[in-house]
Amino acid sequence: MASTNPGKLAELGLGPRLWSNPGEELEDWIFAALPGVANLPPCSEDGDSFATNAHKKALHYSQFVSGFVLADDSGLEVAALGGAPGIHSARYAGPAANDSQNNAKLLQEMNDVPPQMRTARFVCELALAREGKLLARFGGVAEGFILGAPRGHGGFGYDPLFLDPIVGKTFAELKMEDKMQRSHRGKALRGLIEWLATGPRSVGERE
Ligand code: IMP
Repeated sequence: MASTNPGKLAELGLGPRLWSNPGEELEDWIFAALPGVANLPPCSEDGDSFATNAHKKALHYSQFVSGFVLADDSGLEVAALGGAPGIHSARYAGPAANDSQNNAKLLQEMNDVPPQMRTARFVCELALAREGKLLARFGGVAEGFILGAPRGHGGFGYDPLFLDPIVGKTFAELKMEDKMQRSHRGKALRGLIEWLATGPRSVGERE
């Protein structure tokens, strides 16, 4: 996993344990952080979509290792803000912004937006590459609402402000495994797990 984001690494690191069925041979797969990723030349995330940036990151980091490289590009799209923060989610409040600064800016921008207009969605795009070649892509979306104040202490990023209306909790109020059953990243990861159960063999990637 080519990421330095501890939240993403923890969630993706659940990997096959969440969804593999007996006999699917997924026990061979271990999802681990790419060693020394913070010291590798950085990838410029200058694409105009989550999919483009995930693709770029996977290809870039797969030049430096021989195994499979998984990249995640994700973020929050708020309808009342014309889709912002979108691909700029990590740096919404500035180039070095942290989660609480980004959340504070989001609340400020939405100060005048009434409850029924506070719809938002999380988007996650995963790209899998090996030695400079893209192997597969998986996407996931989670729909919800932005609250007027944070709730819960789990998760990361905008989770305390993102209400999942089906379970009536914010993503920060869910255990990680339960968030993954509902989240954009969980949906994308599930696609990857299903593909790993069958796909790599069919394209000759597993002997
Ligand atoms: P990236 O590293 O450029 O993909 O930026 C991802 C940013 O989107 C994170 O720093 C968070 O601000 C936000 N984000 C993505 N996924 C989640 C999530 O599952 N919960 C909360 N915030 C998220």
